[in-house]
Amino acid sequence: SEVSCEDVDRLGVLGHGNSGVVYQVRHKTTSQVYALKVVHGHSDPLVCRQLLRETDILRRTADCPYIVKCYGIEEKPSGDIAMVMEYMDLGTLDSLCKDLGGTLSEEKVAHVARQVLNGLSYLHANKIVHRDIKPSNLLVNKNLEVKIGDFGVSKIMCPTLDARNSFVGTCAYMSPDRLDPEAHGGDYDAYAGDIWSLGLTVLELYLGHFPLLQPGQRPDWPTLMDAICFADPPRLPEEDGASKEFRSFIQCCLQKEASKRWTASQLLSHPFLAKVLKP
Ligand code: ATP
Ligand code: MG
Repeated sequence: SEVSCEDVDRLGVLGHGNSGVVYQVRHKTTSQVYALKVVHGHSDPLVCRQLLRETDILRRTADCPYIVKCYGIEEKPSGDIAMVMEYMDLGTLDSLCKDLGGTLSEEKVAHVARQVLNGLSYLHANKIVHRDIKPSNLLVNKNLEVKIGDFGVSKIMCPTLDARNSFVGTCAYMSPDRLDPEAHGGDYDAYAGDIWSLGLTVLELYLGHFPLLQPGQRPDWPTLMDAICFADPPRLPEEDGASKEFRSFIQCCLQKEASKRWTASQLLSHPFLAKVLKP
């Protein structure tokens, strides 16, 4: 059922993102805890409308256990957008992975990949593109369920290329065809863009660093653009003990040509995912 931001009290701040602030909140009558994301007004009303429309589709249709549930979304007179979401008590995969020592085992990575692919195949089947798959947008709860969070909200930041420091956070996971469509046949395949981002995310969780940059390398725009558009796509290092199924999975996601990337439903039957231990 609907939850409005008038129905909740703020308990504290869960985190700051590129596009807004996320609060932990509690419902005034049911005491249910939620996350409330407030995104500051966007200058482009077209982008805003698109965001509201897509999030609304999702709010009405999402019975998908692999997507963070949205209980209500409102546009304030100020232009700010407030979104009441399912609270994920273990936070983002990004911070969880750091807390666990910086890297995840192949088995854990396969568990994550399977859940995210279930979410992506649901979204893509409903003609919805996430556009911002990355470790900080994947949320985890006590049951070790991994869900795609932050649906749509982040994409309103994507065209912003001026703030160099936040650049990696917003655009580093974009596919070559999305960053530079002209060099890749003029149009990019938005669904395949999500698969590229998933491939980078999975590789990052395993390696413990963003795979397109060497640890410590400056994440500036030219370096990043070069790595995404002109270098060979990242692979698992040869000397690494990774299985051939894992290597193959990464290659199926990280094809520079969008048409060569596997779809979410194809990847769901990739042998790498058979590595998931059933709980
Ligand atoms: P971006 O603005 O690009 O999405 P981000 O993903 O780093 O950047 P937010 O999505 O705004 O930032 O989230 C900020 C922080 O709030 C997250 O890192 C996470 O700790 C917390 N958070 C977000 N959504 C939830 C949620 N549903 N449940 C619990 N914590 C959340
Ligand atoms: Mg986010």
